[in-house]
Amino acid sequence: MKKITVAKGDGIGPEIMDATLKIILAAGAEIEIEEIQVGEKVYLSGNTSGIASESWDVIRRNKVFLKAPITTTQGGGYKSLNVTTRKFLGLYSNVRPCLSLHPFIATKHPVMDIVIVRENEEDLYAGIEHQQTDEVVQCLKLISRPGCEKIVRYAFEYAKQYNRKKVTCFTKDNIMKQTDGLFHKVFDEIAKEYPEIENEHWIIDIGAAKMADTPEAFDVIVMPNLYGDVLSDVAAQITGSVGLAGSANIGDECSMFEAIHGSAPRRAGQNVANPSGLLQGAIMMLNHIGQSNVAEKVQNAWLKTLEDGTHTYDIYKEGNSKKQVSTSEFADAVIANLGQKPEILKAVSYANTAAINMPKYIRQATKAKKLVGVDIFVHWSGSNPDELADKVKRIAPSDMKLKMITNRGIKVWPEGFSETFCTDHWRCRFHPVEGVSIGKEEIIQLLSNAVREEIDTIKTENLYEFDGVAAYSLGQGQ
Ligand code: NAD
Repeated sequence: MKKITVAKGDGIGPEIMDATLKIILAAGAEIEIEEIQVGEKVYLSGNTSGIASESWDVIRRNKVFLKAPITTTQGGGYKSLNVTTRKFLGLYSNVRPCLSLHPFIATKHPVMDIVIVRENEEDLYAGIEHQQTDEVVQCLKLISRPGCEKIVRYAFEYAKQYNRKKVTCFTKDNIMKQTDGLFHKVFDEIAKEYPEIENEHWIIDIGAAKMADTPEAFDVIVMPNLYGDVLSDVAAQITGSVGLAGSANIGDECSMFEAIHGSAPRRAGQNVANPSGLLQGAIMMLNHIGQSNVAEKVQNAWLKTLEDGTHTYDIYKEGNSKKQVSTSEFADAVIANLGQKPEILKAVSYANTAAINMPKYIRQATKAKKLVGVDIFVHWSGSNPDELADKVKRIAPSDMKLKMITNRGIKVWPEGFSETFCTDHWRCRFHPVEGVSIGKEEIIQLLSNAVREEIDTIKTENLYEFDGVAAYSLGQGQ
């Protein structure tokens, strides 16, 4: 008997959770349920995180969390509970299978069977944003080697476990050579450890276009957080309905399972919502906790029910469907089909699908790190870069030199184009003069000179070489 935490959430949440639990318990799931309150009621009671601290204790103790959708209260400084949960619990891997159920669910892509593995903790979702000047705001995109290694390895291990043939990586490393470049590099390194699984990399823009047009060309796709967030919804939608997809959020210690859709408040309390998305999450949970025989039984009964044409309103379509049913009637129909298999859709057979045993991340040997310059970002409302260059040249200590000024990444000094549009946010790059080594003191000197010259510095970025390789981007046009 495995104890799990359950939250029934908001809107249609309680109805679809009741239906889901009824089905999996009827199928023989050996679970003990400990229920907690999360979401709207908790937000409105004045708790901006949407969850009480005692509930965190329950989630952390039971480690496995089945969560219905919640309504994120708009405004008032409320934080998204989903994002908080993923980060607090270290749920680094978001797994979203997207399967077409042609001809029973209308879709333009009858042979689609993709699993999106999305990095779930970092990238632009680190949520580190600042306004720096009147005109410019910034969001830091953080990509780490452990983050990349964990998610890429998870994708290959998942492919191995579920007998999938190929893992594709999507990044934009032709533009973001450091951040997406690291993700791609780690993908290439780890792919070598799985010679039996095909691997490939696509630049995200053409990869996404190809996925939306020819999804049958893909199998498992691994991506950084933002791309994965967007494309997993696209992938789910083109199977015919986002309402049919579930999602697993996996960490080293804890895991959370859910539907990918929201709380559909307009449908709440009417016993009409489709419980399939949450049921798919619950099936992933059963596999994760080693109850794959129950997971298999439920999945095959669910496929059979859809094949029978027993459909809730959202997927009901004249011609494809035979009977429109309520939430609870749908649950009863799945229960009646337990033990049966679909005849036309492919029946599933789960074996060895328990939680993937991931190796602990091992930190690599540190590299020789050398400071080779600094970017000083300046708030300046002038428009002529030559004028700014004359000002900032005066702040360089004797052993450093202004090398370049960019505006939004494009070089505007020396030899900029008069056509380039400039904002009030300027990056001034300084390097030591030939043959000189610098330390942090020179940077402090630069900043202190800037104060003296009344130059408004808003941030600095140190420029490093690691093992002799420059580890920063050049200015565009440099
Ligand atoms: P939604 O997914 O709730 O609804 C989108 C559309 O799909 C609506 O027309 C809805 O009626 C329909 N729909 C969704 N699930 C359905 C189901 N199971 N059966 C039948 N029809 C279904 O998205 P939304 O309207 O943008 O968001 C509503 C609320 O849900 C918001 O507060 C949002 O923040 C929240 N939300 C929560 C989660 C989560 O908890 N994981 C995810 C997304 C959105």
